[in-house]
Amino acid sequence: MNNKIKFENVPFNIPYIFEKDFKKNFSELRKKDKYSSVGYFSSKCEEWLKKNINAKSVLLTNSCTSALEMCALLLNLKKDDEVIMPSFTFVSTANAFVLRGAKPVFVDIDNDNLNIDSNEIEKAITKKTKAIVVVHYAGISCDIKRIKTIAKKNKIFLIEDAAHSILSYYQKKPLGSFGDLSTFSFHDTKNIHCGEGGALIINNKSLIEKSKIIRDKGTNRDKFIKNVVKKYTWVDVGSSYGLSEINACFLYSQLVNSKRIITERVRIFKNYYKIFSNFKDFQLPKLSSKKKINGHIFYIIVKNNRKSFMDFLKKNGIQTTFHYVPLHNSPAGKKYAKGKNLKNTEKLAKSLVRLPIFYDKKYFGKDYFNKINRLVSIYLKNINK
Ligand SMILES: *Cc1c(COP(=O)(O)O)cnc(C)c1O
Repeated sequence: MNNKIKFENVPFNIPYIFEKDFKKNFSELRKKDKYSSVGYFSSKCEEWLKKNINAKSVLLTNSCTSALEMCALLLNLKKDDEVIMPSFTFVSTANAFVLRGAKPVFVDIDNDNLNIDSNEIEKAITKKTKAIVVVHYAGISCDIKRIKTIAKKNKIFLIEDAAHSILSYYQKKPLGSFGDLSTFSFHDTKNIHCGEGGALIINNKSLIEKSKIIRDKGTNRDKFIKNVVKKYTWVDVGSSYGLSEINACFLYSQLVNSKRIITERVRIFKNYYKIFSNFKDFQLPKLSSKKKINGHIFYIIVKNNRKSFMDFLKKNGIQTTFHYVPLHNSPAGKKYAKGKNLKNTEKLAKSLVRLPIFYDKKYFGKDYFNKINRLVSIYLKNINK
């Protein structure tokens, strides 16, 4: 196809930095002269998250992967314990539990939002099931209320891998506030970032004290800092999961601006949505007034030939990507999924395309969306000839 429209290259993602706020925070950090984890800015970030996520307790971590590993340690998972999760997710969702010897039980996703299918969860529960891990894909809530009821009824833990879903809501309640435990990511590909970082949300009160021990290398250092014990020592298993104060100081400048980031991403999402819903060749995420979104990912399901569509956009200066390789078909995951046939996961993962979405007004003006509209029309005219 040679119907090229002249166009400035639009990358898939550019991480934004609120540089002025960061510099101000950094000079404050210089005065404090303490850069390791569990300090002034970590507390500021934790307080901010506690308030905005409506969480019982929050610990900053050096990644979402670390926060998920903490979940597996906190639940004391052992060999042959089963953890129900979607196959359509990032590797860390499974790996954190596999590291403890637990077995991931992969469940299919629904066609509407690519989230774990709550109808399939109950069928997958056995005597060995210890937890359900949900992912709110693209920042759009899964059927979290129903899944919470299922977890309660079966006395198993609920974990939200909320890596995509900071400041998204289900019936006005923030995602991350439903699970016994929830995790966030501040990787620079996510809505709010600090290079690499994460947070563990602990809503189940019985797990709060132990979470601090696990973060602090298995010691009771937290009690020492609060003057409860005179000397700190090794009291349980743990590792080094805290976030450096340098990252926390950066993260705080992003968190206080997070509403601006999300408003802009949602605006971009809605503009794409309006355009693509005019063409019957694409399937879009199903939106609902119950589910307030955060514009983390804008994806479409391309009904035929994803590759030629992505190549066409690339030739015209628009970078797109796709994910995930379903875990139940991956080299490390397939041994847990012998003979498993997850129909929606396989079908949707093959045809998903993600479009550029990031906080930067320069790229996403009226011209951009007009051009996207024209490009898509040209593309479809050509393939449907
Ligand atoms: C990004 C992501 C992670 C991992 O986050 P890190 O902070 O990079 O460790 C985990 N789960 C999901 C669903 C993700 O998208």
